Amino acid sequence: PTTRPRQPELRTALPGPKTAAIMGRDAQHLSTSYMRPYPFVPDHGEGVWLTDADGNTMLDFFAGIAVSTTGHAHPHVVRAVQEQVGKFAHVCLTDYPQEITTSLAERLLRHIERPRSDGGHEKWRVFFGNSGAEAVEAAVKLARNHTGRSHIISTMGSFHGRTYGAITLTGSKTKYKRGFGPLLPAVSHVPYPNPFRPLPGSTPETCGQAVLGQIEALFVGVVPADEVAAIIVEPMQGEGGYIVPPADFLPGLRALCDRHGIMLIFDEVQAGMGRTGKMFSFQNAAAEWGDVQPDMVTVAKGIASGLPISALLARESVMTWPVGSHGSTFGGNPVSAAAAHATLDLLEGVVTHPGCGASLMENAADVGTYLLTELRAMQAEFPFLGDVRGQGLFIGLEFVKPDGSPDGALRDAASLAMFGRGLLNLDCGEAVIRVSPPLILTHEEAHTGLEIMRAALRSL
Ligand code: PMP
Repeated sequence: PTTRPRQPELRTALPGPKTAAIMGRDAQHLSTSYMRPYPFVPDHGEGVWLTDADGNTMLDFFAGIAVSTTGHAHPHVVRAVQEQVGKFAHVCLTDYPQEITTSLAERLLRHIERPRSDGGHEKWRVFFGNSGAEAVEAAVKLARNHTGRSHIISTMGSFHGRTYGAITLTGSKTKYKRGFGPLLPAVSHVPYPNPFRPLPGSTPETCGQAVLGQIEALFVGVVPADEVAAIIVEPMQGEGGYIVPPADFLPGLRALCDRHGIMLIFDEVQAGMGRTGKMFSFQNAAAEWGDVQPDMVTVAKGIASGLPISALLARESVMTWPVGSHGSTFGGNPVSAAAAHATLDLLEGVVTHPGCGASLMENAADVGTYLLTELRAMQAEFPFLGDVRGQGLFIGLEFVKPDGSPDGALRDAASLAMFGRGLLNLDCGEAVIRVSPPLILTHEEAHTGLEIMRAALRSL
């Protein structure tokens, strides 16, 4: 791939005529539930660049919602997919093993299995699905099946998917639930610790402990701890606003779950697969707090550079459901598995990408630190940038009013102003723009993105 830094090339006014025509047909024939934040219709991509139907080339700073890890049409991924689709595209993993998924499972497990304190080796297993929601559903089913308990605790601001179990767990927007009930019974929500907006009575440092206190309070007055199967949490919250909790939150949650025999599920669908500079976002806490190990991990999105596949990883002692009790026709599709292998080659550095250091994980940490530093420096010029936070290439910019409350209208205006200058971006939370580019982003491309953001923010 070319690594030559380029600028967006806008050839037409936005939207161009072809884009406008496709948007018109889309509005007539596709589901009324789809959102269209601005007029963009992709035609083809290369690296961190996407060209629309009218030939306008834009810098991609959202990567199809944190999916396009290796950018668009990465030659290593394209080759792997072509090779596998020419062999066989489907047989059904639920019934027959296939080497490409077996080796993918082994490869994923190397990133989570740890030596045990008794000198042995902790063993985990993998269930493959197609989407993040399916991995979450599998986690909930497995937690109930394994513990014989039913209640699940989730967090406010969370997003876990749109199937019935997953929307019940989701705690971010009521529009995901309105008119769709009744939902899954036996689900409770507790706040998520946000250092920028700590719970009343707590500080940025103590807000994690405050949430742990609220969970213990649930056990006293709302649901007995021995009826709780699992707590599911995003180690860094995605749709809710790209929030990094205080460092003592996940270790505290682990200890709480251990005290009560509760399964701890980390939903790594958005933050996982190298985006934060580690394979899983919860592993960033390791240096400071020692290894926090959950009982299950869900991954999807960035695992296969855009081909549909998800995985539920669980401790072997937990993944004990009976033969035939759970499966999926498409889950663990071999073409998607080939794309996942190629993606992992680049994430791990088995294959290097020009201009991106030893591995894409390393690049995410490196370019992410540069972006975070530069964006924080911009706060001096733009006081409405209330908070700039993140880890690696998982960065959130929160827009605030002078009184500090979230300014969603200004965020929307900023998003449009960036798009108008050729920067594809996506909102999240109440007033946040997420920066979640492909992990092949170079310093030069990051610099180009920063210049566009600065110009857009100046125009507000
Ligand atoms: N979990 C998290 C943390 C997510 O961010 C998402 C998607 N935004 C999901 C689950 C659901 O994934 P999918 O849309 O692939 O079902």
